[in-house]
Amino acid sequence: MQIDFEKSADGLVPAIIQDAATGKVLMLGYMNREALDKTLADNKVTFYSRSKKRLWTKGEESGNFLLLQDLMVDCDSDTILIKANPVGPVCHTGADTCWNEVNNSNDFLARLESIITDRKNNPSDKSYTSQLFARGINKVAQKVGEEAVEVVIEAKDDNDELFLNESADLLYHYLVLLQAKGFTLADVIKVLKERHK
Ligand code: AMP
Ligand code: ZN
Ligand code: ZN
Ligand code: ZN
Repeated sequence: MQIDFEKSADGLVPAIIQDAATGKVLMLGYMNREALDKTLADNKVTFYSRSKKRLWTKGEESGNFLLLQDLMVDCDSDTILIKANPVGPVCHTGADTCWNEVNNSNDFLARLESIITDRKNNPSDKSYTSQLFARGINKVAQKVGEEAVEVVIEAKDDNDELFLNESADLLYHYLVLLQAKGFTLADVIKVLKERHK
């Protein structure tokens, strides 16, 4: 098998680990020639760890080995794809994959909420959100009402773009209203969860 270890100065190539059974991408590590040779010899995935600065057989401490199933190389021979059967959770956090959803919509709302909190606590003239807070709860509530009506109007049409835009306006102003009242989305979610019991 030809793999271009010389392409990068450190002699390492990225190795993507995919679950042979589910197709899920599990982790990414780096291999040098020795790591690859050891992987093929033992049928257990061994990386070159850039932090440990040595060969690292995944699972050497935890027992959560990655059993080699198949090995592929990309078109220009500088990336390895390994299909493996994980003995246990792959991530040292105990998760089955090392990847977390960062574009998760709840995460995004949480980030937006913390920006809104910041605009409330550190008002700036340039910030529309700060201006909303300055105008008071009644004014913010009125904005929520207006945006809600706009959502209703757009719901009757079949212009998806307008409907989604008004929905975004509503959600944003609603988050501001919650904070103007001293609450967060978490307080509302708590109520919903209570009802769900
Ligand atoms: P293990 O190879 O599973 O025995 O884990 C040994 C050590 O390697 C852990 O304590 C972590 O520091 C590190 N480690 C384990 N799994 C991962 C991973 N998926 N990604 C990065 N580092 C890891
Ligand atoms: Zn490539
Ligand atoms: Zn991890
Ligand atoms: Zn609007």
